[in-house]
Amino acid sequence: MQLNQLNQLIHHAMAMNPGSRYPTVAEFAADLKKVIAALPSPASAPPAILQPDLPQLDEALQAAKEQQRAEARSALRCPRCGWELPHSARFCSHCGSSLSVPN
Ligand SMILES: [Zn+2]
Repeated sequence: MQLNQLNQLIHHAMAMNPGSRYPTVAEFAADLKKVIAALPSPASAPPAILQPDLPQLDEALQAAKEQQRAEARSALRCPRCGWELPHSARFCSHCGSSLSVPN
């Protein structure tokens, strides 16, 4: 219905014979406004989903943190030389530096 009106309006505005066209822009605008007024309100359209899926994001973040913790548990490394050490170590057996890492 509105589409037909719009088509007629466009054909009117683009008529081969200039005399058949809208004589003024104001008249063209007035007809366009009538078509727009007949269109369904944009407020009734469902809102676009622009926000990220927060629960999914949080889940991914927790998984990443958990993986980091697992890696920290499996390997203790000397902050100075990077030597892999047992978790019970207080000193690096490679360079001798103290492992006073705050827990
Ligand atoms: Zn070391």
